Amino acid sequence: MIAVLKQTATPQQLEHFVEWIENRGFKTHVSQGDAKTIVGIIGDTSQIDPFLLESMSIIERVQRVSEPFKKANRKFHPEDTVVDCGHGVLIGGGNFQVMAGPCSVEGKNLIEIARLCKEAGATMLRGGAYRLRTSPYAFQGMGEKGLDLLLEASAELNMPIVTEVIDPRDVQLFVDKSIDVMQIGARNAQNFTLLKEVGKTTTPVLLRRGVAGTIDELLMAAEYIMSEGNPNVILCERGVRSFETRARNTFDVNAIPVLKHLSHLPVVGDPSHATGYARYVRPAAYAATAAGADGLEIEVHTCPSEAFSDGAQALTPEQFSDAMRRIALIREAITADLDATGDE
Ligand code: PEP
Ligand code: MN
Repeated sequence: MIAVLKQTATPQQLEHFVEWIENRGFKTHVSQGDAKTIVGIIGDTSQIDPFLLESMSIIERVQRVSEPFKKANRKFHPEDTVVDCGHGVLIGGGNFQVMAGPCSVEGKNLIEIARLCKEAGATMLRGGAYRLRTSPYAFQGMGEKGLDLLLEASAELNMPIVTEVIDPRDVQLFVDKSIDVMQIGARNAQNFTLLKEVGKTTTPVLLRRGVAGTIDELLMAAEYIMSEGNPNVILCERGVRSFETRARNTFDVNAIPVLKHLSHLPVVGDPSHATGYARYVRPAAYAATAAGADGLEIEVHTCPSEAFSDGAQALTPEQFSDAMRRIALIREAITADLDATGDE
């Protein structure tokens, strides 16, 4: 971390600042130029609040030179992490997986939707049993009964399931029921109590970007999980809130290569929540695939107009099947060995 001092800083103020930093266990390196004095702060600066330093009267600005996320950082773990989602399904490190299913588990129709998703090529089944809805009057999910329906479908089709956990008190239930992948929703992306709780397990976690979360906030949320001991984190770009109103969210396709550059964790794109309308889901899915995502999460429903939640963005099984064939072609194009030069 680097602190640039104001030109008005006196030698005594500099001395006090250096003493203050060193008393906290850091080393310093002072570089005095003609116009600027810069103090390099050496040590684990993730514990320093840069805003606190910037609030000091002699500091002009503070800049981090290393990221505060360590365990999620590719610098300290250059090779891709491969997460084992169960049922022989691996994601990351060249393994591409598609998670599909209804937004909410609604009842007996789950198995039919799951079967059609699998036939189209989905390798994991998604569905929410515990729901976090913007309105308290909207469908709140089937709860434990919904988990059991997912588990039945999983056993019948030999597919791992991805389902959201919304409360730290439910994490043990998910572990006891051997849920394959626990999803952390966008609205819980900074629920640090929940992140720490799933971090104490070894169950893979699909961590979604916050509604208006930055890439760094997503990586710090991953760090919360990993710092508790769980290395099995999958990141998910699901669109962010922006000034744009023509789609439900703004799909940050850039985030996919950026996350893969900064982190070794697998990155999944969710074109359903990113766009909010079925007509835009396929193009956004192709973009995420072409951008190098390790997988996709797509909502599918046999009768979108009757869906308990997110019907507007659900693909029919036929649309999903068409999308899967094109996604396979895009994967072929971007993984083809062309003896290309210019790779980073
Ligand atoms: C979902 O997966 O259905 C969902 C609600 O996603 P998010 O938390 O990203 O809004
Ligand atoms: Mn949904």
